[in-house]
Amino acid sequence: MTAEPVIRVNHLVKRYGVGAAAHTAVDDVSFTVSPGRTLALVGESGAGKSTIGAILTGLHAATSGTIEVCGEDRTRPARSTRVRRHRGSQLQLVAQDPFTSLDPRQTIGSAVAEAVALHTHPHRHERRRRVLELLDAVGLSARHATVTPRALSGGQRQRVAIARALAAQPEVLVLDEAVSALDVSVQAQVLNLLNDLQAGTGTAYVFITHDLAVVRQIAHDVIVLRRGRITERGSTEDILDRPREDYTRLLLAATPRPGWTPTAQPS
Ligand code: ADP
Ligand code: MG
Repeated sequence: MTAEPVIRVNHLVKRYGVGAAAHTAVDDVSFTVSPGRTLALVGESGAGKSTIGAILTGLHAATSGTIEVCGEDRTRPARSTRVRRHRGSQLQLVAQDPFTSLDPRQTIGSAVAEAVALHTHPHRHERRRRVLELLDAVGLSARHATVTPRALSGGQRQRVAIARALAAQPEVLVLDEAVSALDVSVQAQVLNLLNDLQAGTGTAYVFITHDLAVVRQIAHDVIVLRRGRITERGSTEDILDRPREDYTRLLLAATPRPGWTPTAQPS
């Protein structure tokens, strides 16, 4: 990979609270992500994964350290709508529960159209074409455009969330536990979709998950976080097949193997 990284995170620190109540959620984390690559941030609950995602997305400010996206500094959250929109065209977040981010009364077509209009301002008929193109890209059809979120399965709603994020044509997608709530087979479908989209567009992914089982299907590189610090980092093969740290081995041991089902376990 010779392309310049689209994300550069340098010595990122995030402390919540002040004085004796202060808690360091992210402690000196540095990484880069290049176009077309997927970096997984893994670790148990409370490791600081979502905090890093929230800072990348501009929802939280860093305590110290720097962040660059597409070569532009975004260490501080955007102050104006114009800057927020510009940053949204570079980086989009896909969160765990798309039901909370979708308006239950709005049709899927109108939700995606809204995202298209916000970022690319096309004419009406062009907007409609783009909505159908995006739905098609995530494996949904024109039929889905006319229904409300209630009529969709969890996997389909997650596809809508991805379509909305893609409407901005971002260089980077941050996916925070984006498939964690889905059944294993639906998970695999959404991960395949993400891989196909990346092959077509070169979008970089920061893939946040507590579930190491999905990492092999999506990530090129992995960072293992523990209490805000990087415990271990490397290629997906190195981390999953040749972990050096006891903590990584423990995380792996706690991860169900592919093909594992509760009923298949000896009692
Ligand atoms: P993860 O996503 O890996 O589960 P988080 O980034 O959500 O971890 O949380 C990291 C640590 O920061 C946890 O100890 C959590 O309790 C704390 N934390 C997260 N968000 C806040 C907040 N808004 N205020 C105070 N503490 C927080
Ligand atoms: Mg989290």
